[in-house]
Amino acid sequence: MSMQTHLFRCLSDNYGVLVHDPDSGQTASIDVPEEAAVRAALGDTGWTLTHILITHHHNDHIGGLAGLKAPGITVVGPRKDAARIPGLDVLVGEGDAFSFGGEEVKVFETPGHTSGHITYWMPKAKLVFAGDTMFAMGCGRLFEGTPADMWSSLSKIAALPPETKVFCGHEYTLSNAKFAVTADPDNAALKARLAEVEKKTAAGIPTVPTTVAEELATNPFVRANTDEVAAAMGMPGASPEKVLGEVRARKDSF
Ligand code: ZN
Ligand code: FE
Repeated sequence: MSMQTHLFRCLSDNYGVLVHDPDSGQTASIDVPEEAAVRAALGDTGWTLTHILITHHHNDHIGGLAGLKAPGITVVGPRKDAARIPGLDVLVGEGDAFSFGGEEVKVFETPGHTSGHITYWMPKAKLVFAGDTMFAMGCGRLFEGTPADMWSSLSKIAALPPETKVFCGHEYTLSNAKFAVTADPDNAALKARLAEVEKKTAAGIPTVPTTVAEELATNPFVRANTDEVAAAMGMPGASPEKVLGEVRARKDSF
């Protein structure tokens, strides 16, 4: 049987997600925004927590860690952030892999939002857990990194097989989409996606997960290497890093 996922909302606009392998019975929580919400999700699914995979040190991603950590639960997290994430059992960085639910999980370092941020890829299950690096039609704010860092990080995710499902840390999609149409104004796929996201959001339906293919087609940060987005930024011929920096600055004040 294949890997199952369970997405749930928590805090103000965070997503939690559980990943479960029915064969081994192993279950991972990707980040732990809030103890009570993770426990409720485990109750709803009947799954038993065996792993916690942390993407970055922000409290809305590790707030439930102290309460959930228990013997028999393996906590994996970024080696570079070991000093500011208490309770990590397994430290990982670029190119590392570990086994979960009978498959290999690969780790990318994806700095930009924070310096230690990592992303988890499950190639067999075709899932990627991008934390606050890639959002649907957006990317994380650059608190501890440069536009070049974020471009390189987004490029790692964008290079995965197009059908890969992308789980991210927040429901920011409608606001991202409203901005995205200003940064890539002639993109028909993006306009169609905005309309779809407006409907889903009005109906209370999550817009996550997205896919690599959808982000390649509609995410202005991922598309910072296109003539269209460079032109919309008034920067024809500029490098993707520079264009991304301008897109990010405009989104920050949108
Ligand atoms: Zn964050
Ligand atoms: Fe966050």
